[in-house]
Amino acid sequence: IELAKVGFEKYMTLQDLENNWVKEFPKPLIIAGPCSAESEKQMLETAKRIKETNAEVPIFRAGIWKPRTKPNGFEGVGVIGLNWLKKVKEEYGFKTATEVANAHHVAAALEADVDILWIGARSTVNPFTVQEIAEALKGTEKPVLVKNPVNPDLALWIGALERLLGQEVTNLGVIHRGFSTYQKTKYRNIPNWQIALDFKNQFPNIPMIVDPSHICGNRTGLAAIAQEALNVGYDGAMIETHRNPDEAWSDASQQITPEVLAELINNLQVRNSDISGFDDEMGRHRTLISDLDFQLIEILAQRMKISEKIGTLKKVNNIAIFQPERWKVITEYATQKADETGMSSEFIEKVFKAIHEESIEVQNNI
Ligand code: PEP
Ligand code: MN
Repeated sequence: IELAKVGFEKYMTLQDLENNWVKEFPKPLIIAGPCSAESEKQMLETAKRIKETNAEVPIFRAGIWKPRTKPNGFEGVGVIGLNWLKKVKEEYGFKTATEVANAHHVAAALEADVDILWIGARSTVNPFTVQEIAEALKGTEKPVLVKNPVNPDLALWIGALERLLGQEVTNLGVIHRGFSTYQKTKYRNIPNWQIALDFKNQFPNIPMIVDPSHICGNRTGLAAIAQEALNVGYDGAMIETHRNPDEAWSDASQQITPEVLAELINNLQVRNSDISGFDDEMGRHRTLISDLDFQLIEILAQRMKISEKIGTLKKVNNIAIFQPERWKVITEYATQKADETGMSSEFIEKVFKAIHEESIEVQNNI
């Protein structure tokens, strides 16, 4: 009571949380089920077929209230779907999970004893919404998972977790579902792995689940994304699964059947984080890598020094800093050298763009 009075979050930080809830599940923790609950039949048949594959799927998901980009689409079946989730739990023994986007959803989901709640990507962007949800969840022991915001903003993602912690919600986790972009890419939402890995570095104790379905937006890329996530130490995956994906009322193109899900799960490899047994060899390689990294930095520093001299020349002669022909020459030799050394030219181009950008910044300061 004393803690609550002065502000729980002042005594507990996200780093202090143990998040033991995840240890009760096998690794990888698979959460599967339809994007949306559509009918009792659809829910029970999907659950039954997942069970019949014998794949290890402890948690069944279904969206009850659906955030849609445009109005007049299917916006979810509403509270009646909570009864179907209950039936899935009673008849097939799954734990259940759904998305909550306001205080009413939270009240209804808690009342229906949904086991795990998540905050969707469109809600995470809005601190008012997150605060409302957090207050409605106050003190719950149920795990609450926070999807990354649609925009690539790590602080916003962390802020949402802090709001939950501020309401004494201490069983937390995150879902990496990728980020919106205006560019056309092979992904529906680009993964931006670095943001999720930065999160993981700061909060290694907060379970991280990947959502390949919303990253890919199609069926073909799901397995690769799920495996990539396990390779970097994620705890599990949430995968949209439907008895008849082509006929799904939302996200049809990315959903898979229970049988395809089972095959995907069977092919997943869980990686160890324990390197004992080969840590000598690992240590030797890492020493070499660190040594090369130091050399890289030294060389970059030398390059910047020369760039400063050029900057002074440009200033004295009143010349524009950015010279497109010169940049063209650099890209050409860099990508050619990339080819010669067997590296990806896109990668080298990215590296040189970053170096060039910094060079322009240095010259600007002059
Ligand atoms: C969903 O899980 O069906 C969903 C709406 O996801 P997101 O919030 O990631 O868009
Ligand atoms: Mn969906």
